Formats: sequence, C-alpha cells, structure tokens
Amino acid sequence: MGDGFVVREALVLDGSGEEGSVSDVVVRNGKIELIGASEEPGLTIVDGEGLILAPGFIDCHCHDDLAMLREPDRLEKVAQGVTTVIVGNCGFSLFPCDIGSREALRKHAGGLLGSLGNHEVFEDVNAYADALLSNGMAINVAPLVGHGPLRLEVLGYDARPATAEERMRMSLRLEQQLLTGGAGLSVGLVYPPSAFADRDELVALCKVAAKCGKPVAAHIRSYEAGLLDATQEFLDLLRASGARGVLSHLQAAGKPNWGLAAKALLALDAAVDEGIDVCFDMYPYLAGSSYALQLLPPSASVGGIDALKAKLRSPEYRARLKIRLEDPAVDAEGWQSKISVIGWESVLIAGTENPSLKALEGLTIQEAARQADCHPFDILERLILEEDGATAVILFQLSEDDLRSVFTHSGHMVGSDGIPRQDGRPHPRAYGAFPRVLNKLAITDQWFSMADAVRRMTLEPAMRFGLIDRGQIRVGAIADLVLFEPTFRDVATFEDPRSLAEGARYVWVNGQAVAADGKPTGIRPGRVLG
Ligand SMILES: [Zn+2]
Repeated sequence: MGDGFVVREALVLDGSGEEGSVSDVVVRNGKIELIGASEEPGLTIVDGEGLILAPGFIDCHCHDDLAMLREPDRLEKVAQGVTTVIVGNCGFSLFPCDIGSREALRKHAGGLLGSLGNHEVFEDVNAYADALLSNGMAINVAPLVGHGPLRLEVLGYDARPATAEERMRMSLRLEQQLLTGGAGLSVGLVYPPSAFADRDELVALCKVAAKCGKPVAAHIRSYEAGLLDATQEFLDLLRASGARGVLSHLQAAGKPNWGLAAKALLALDAAVDEGIDVCFDMYPYLAGSSYALQLLPPSASVGGIDALKAKLRSPEYRARLKIRLEDPAVDAEGWQSKISVIGWESVLIAGTENPSLKALEGLTIQEAARQADCHPFDILERLILEEDGATAVILFQLSEDDLRSVFTHSGHMVGSDGIPRQDGRPHPRAYGAFPRVLNKLAITDQWFSMADAVRRMTLEPAMRFGLIDRGQIRVGAIADLVLFEPTFRDVATFEDPRSLAEGARYVWVNGQAVAADGKPTGIRPGRVLG
C-alpha cells in the first residue's frame, strides 16, 4: 500500500448527501489523507476528470454469506461499486451451530442459499471469519447473527415458546457472537424456526443486541395484509429492548395491500419521534425473491421439511393446505397467503437444483401447471417433494407508488436483498441494484439527487451498522471508494440476470484497487467487519 495514489479532479460525492465539488483525493496506507488540490510528487495518478468519486457502496441487506466463500472475487458486487456487504439477513446465517444442530442448520441455510456442504456451516462467527480470510475476498463483509441458527441450536424446529432457561442459552450464545465479531442480530419472523419465537424470546435477544451496541435487522412477520401489525410488533421489540433497528426490505406485497407501505412509513416516523432508533432498507425493483417454501404458512414447517413432506401424504392435509393458500384471510399470527394476493401467475420459478425440475425454470407456477395440465398447487408440491421447497422463486408483487414512497423517505437505505445462487436465473438485483438506483431512480426518474442516492448507500448504512470510518470521503476515513462514469448503469434484467453493471472505472477496498480501468484486478483486500 506504501506509496499511495491521487484521484485527480473527480466530482466528489462524500456520502453526506451534500452536493459535490471537483477535487483531488489522496489515499495513502489505506486511508484518505487529503481532499483538495494536490501537487505532491511520487503519487500514482488516477485521472478522475469527468468521473464521479464516491465512498464504496455498502450493501446493507444481502445474502452473500455463501457466495463470499465460494466466489470471493464477488465480481457482480465489484462491478456495482459495492465494497462492503452485510450478510446474515432475515434470520439466516451460516453460524452458530453445535454438533447437534449442524445438519439442521445446513438444511435451513441451504433452503435459501442452495445446497451447502458440511464444511459450509460454522460453529461460531470466528470460524466463519477464518474460512473467509483463508480464501481472501475482494470486498469487506459484516456478518449478522441469524436468529434461525440460534434457535435451531437450542430448540430445533419445535414450534413452541422457549423456556426461561432456553432464552438464557440463546442470549448467551448471541452475546458471545456479538462480542467476537457478529455485526448485529437478524430475525426472520416468517421463516421457521425464527417464526416460532414469542415476544419474551425476541425481547430477550434484542436486549442482548442493545447491550452490545449492535443493531437488530428484521424481516418482519408480514409484508401482506398484516404489514402494519408486523411493523408495530417490531417497534414494540425495539421499544422494550432499547435496541436500534433496521426493518428489512419495506414493502407491501399483493395488489389488495398496495398503499400500506406509506402507512408503515407513518408508523416508523411516529416511532422516531418517540425516540426509537429505526430505519429500513429496500431494493429498486417491483419484484421480490425468496424460496418456494416461503409460500406456505409457517405452521406447515413445524418439525422441519421432512415432517412437511410426510404431512403432504395425507389427502386431507393436502386439500386443506391447497384451500388455505388461495384464501386471503389473515390468521391469528397475522399471516396472509402470498398466493392469495399475488396469484400463481406472479410466481416465477427462478432456480432449481434437482435435474427433474430444470425444465420448469423460467416459467411461472401458473404456466408450469398449464403445461402439465394440473393445478398450480401440484407444481408447488413437486418443488417441496423433489427439492425440499428450496426452489428459488421471483415474486412480482409490488407497486411503483409504494416503491417511490419508500425510496423517497429519508430513513431509507439501499439494500439489494440479492440471493446469489449458482443455478438458474437469480433476481437481477444481485447484479444491478446499486447502479440502478443511481441511473434510473436518481437520474431518469429524479426521485432524489445523485448525492442523496449515494448517502443512502454509504454513510447512512455505515452509521446504522456501526462501520466507523467507512461510508464517507473525509480525511482519516478508510479508503473504500468507487470512481464511476456518469453513465454507470445496470444491465441485468429478469430475462438475462447475470449481466454485470457497466461504468465502474475503479473500485478500491481498504485502499487497494479491486477493479482498475473497468476490470477486476484479482486482489483480495477485504476484511471481516463486526
Ligand atoms: Zn427477507
């Protein structure tokens, strides 16, 4: 790193949201040393004229946990100017586990991320960090501690409240993770077994996060008709625990529920007025992505996937489930069937692992049913029976008006929610979310200024996640930087999702170039941040 470099005459957007100005920026020993005209000899010169220099983007919500291990050069992230990813979201992380829960965790995380090897789940955050660092990685990672693994270790897939003793065990385990590198707690209240927790358990765990000064990120209990109640439930947890919170991918799914996002924002505003520290993330698309099992009520997964497969052998259970999925009634837990409000035609089968299902990739469940001359439920059942419901699905379910309300609120941060999988057609957000916010939402649609867009992907998430000295261009800050063209743009589409973004000329991580002249350098200077 020794000699340092200067980026000359780029438009500098420093992450604060203030309009930028043209300046030189000098980097030495991995840090920003000077902002302003520099005539210092001996520095490597990077010509920034006509380009924009910003802090490296922080993807505050993604699921790159496994991809960081398997594809540590993270080409699709680097091409977007992303220099730090926050992983472990929605209650899914690759740690902690003990001997008894290792296999269950492998299946739990594998449901979302694709099949995992035995060596790809970890006893604790240190073991995960060691595995990451032994490969090296192009970008930084901050790992959240998933509630799913914590609960699997203590209660397995039992659908019951934890006892006081079990709460204590989970709390101690969480505290140990947070004190040794975990970046925060994440819960996924629609995903078993996280969904089975009661308030006492959630408050206890949030209190641990508060005590450790770390945030709680929540995939809340409903993004359908129950969105407002689910938002209040999360606010209540924050109020009761004193933790600071990030509401994950704020949205209202299904046409009958459109408009609820704006109401949820009012609830968040009221909470902030009351002194609760809460904000939210969202990605710039009208479709979401998850796995097929998420279309079922959490109660279907009591006992785990094998228990569900056994239940499906009962014609009565099967018939009841089929009717339940098409019924929009909200149950006592606040769950509303996604299928009932978006329809089978809005669920795209995006990625399968079982060769028997490959032919279905790229079809909606409705189309697949038509081809096979069966009911759409039969297709969903095949996904569960033939690959444990781990099929990646894309859900066309959001409204432009809601998206705009969410994105133009000052509490919003950009998180791709990307779920990298090696098979099939992933959601394009994993390849394009960040330039899409700049190119489409800021420049074309003019929802906010470019400087404000940059703030939502740099300083704001850095502060929320306690990434001190990152997410900003100021003297002394760590030199995670991106130098991009004014035409920086996303290329990935739903039809062709694996296309890399175009226009990031240079990307520096901890002062070292992981992309130069628009090409990856192969250097892996990334660190584990916690
Ligand atoms: Zn989620």
